[in-house]
Amino acid sequence: MTHHIIIGAGHAGMAAARELAKHGQVTVIDADPHLPYERPALSKEFLLADSFPDPQSHDWGAITFVGGTRVAEIRPDAHEIRLEDGRVLGYDRLLLTTGGTARALPVAGAEMILGLRDLGDARKLHGLLREALDIAIIGAGVIGLEVASTARKLGLGVHVIELGDRVMARSLPPEISDLLMARHRASGVQFHMGTGLDHLRTRDGRQILHLGDGSDLEVDQTLAGVGFTPDTGLAEAAGIACDHGIVVDGAGRTSAPDIFAAGDVSVFPDSQQSPSRWQTWQHAQRHGSHVARAMAGQSSDYMPLPWFWTDQQGINLQVLGSPLRADHCVLRGAPEGPSTRIYLRDGQVAGAVMIDQGRDTRPLTALIESGASPDPVALADPATPLRNLIPARSAA
Ligand SMILES: Cc1cc2nc3c(=O)[nH]c(=O)nc-3n(C[C@H](O)[C@H](O)[C@H](O)COP(=O)(O)OP(=O)(O)OC[C@H]3O[C@@H](n4cnc5c(N)ncnc54)[C@H](O)[C@@H]3O)c2cc1C
Repeated sequence: MTHHIIIGAGHAGMAAARELAKHGQVTVIDADPHLPYERPALSKEFLLADSFPDPQSHDWGAITFVGGTRVAEIRPDAHEIRLEDGRVLGYDRLLLTTGGTARALPVAGAEMILGLRDLGDARKLHGLLREALDIAIIGAGVIGLEVASTARKLGLGVHVIELGDRVMARSLPPEISDLLMARHRASGVQFHMGTGLDHLRTRDGRQILHLGDGSDLEVDQTLAGVGFTPDTGLAEAAGIACDHGIVVDGAGRTSAPDIFAAGDVSVFPDSQQSPSRWQTWQHAQRHGSHVARAMAGQSSDYMPLPWFWTDQQGINLQVLGSPLRADHCVLRGAPEGPSTRIYLRDGQVAGAVMIDQGRDTRPLTALIESGASPDPVALADPATPLRNLIPARSAA
């Protein structure tokens, strides 16, 4: 029977395991000591819960799960891996879904700064948020802003320090950054924009942050949400091609025979054939399943449409497609309330941002995938169902 080994039991690894279990024996190995869990909750409901929730057990079926054990080496020629405890396991096909770690800031005092990537980090933050009076958050990206929102709900003073001039600038158009920042400000979050952390020290049990603009800030705790470093160490040591991630083709194959990669750690050709590395839940899930099907012999190119969500300050924000590549925006709904902004490029629907309007995701996905150029007046009219604007052959 074919033996598939998966290194990493995150969303990509577990989605792949469920698929591969239909085709043979599957072993999933993870260095994390916990049962597999969903990371998005770590910056949201897990932090708010009175007591910190434990991951739930899965129905393993044909999957063998080995937790709390790091894989120390891949031997591609022998089709073997070596675990840190010395055990050697053979595979027919190997999948790397090793994700990555929260990027550390290269500044003096960095060892005092919290990161948030795994359950251990979240459990620690959960406790500290209940002891601290205030927190500084370096980086106004998804994780930093979600923690800012949670910390305000728990009554802490919150400072967000961001090098750029707007929040979530890499994924949101300026008007949505402005709207989100206004909601955070209204809840009491204080922003320090256009500056970064120079160094950090302690005085009388408090942390003193010296910012790049010369100002000082005093808080109980500091968290950094400044990006992600893909975990490519194992792959690189095995001679597998890496370039800011493990490089794969449309089917998820790496440069080594019978070794595949998926999820956050992988660099894949997107629909424009550009090398891309995405860190979103849906991508991890879909890419993991897609690559698993290729491992089982059903190879096709991965053609994803970007989508992610974030929950902040009572808003559910969903971002679909490529709103930043657009040249025109149509507002559907009231600007301050639940609404959808639809982004057009050369008349075609290129992306959308939904505020408490997630039900628009499905028809807008069909509109983008069909290459439709709907009438902007109809798009803007909430009385016109979006599904009515999908070209007939795509709606079928
Ligand atoms: C706090 C937080 C909040 C998020 N919120 C959102 C959100 O709201 N919306 C959204 O779309 N996305 C969100 N994401 C992103 C999403 O969770 C990730 O894209 C997804 O977890 C990636 O899955 P993955 O399987 O590729 O990697 P991971 O989930 O990182 O899994 C990789 C696993 O590999 C293991 N591993 C690594 N090296 C080894 C080794 N040598 N041996 C054994 N095991 C190893 C690690 O222990 C880890 O468990 C969030 C992420 C975080 C951290």
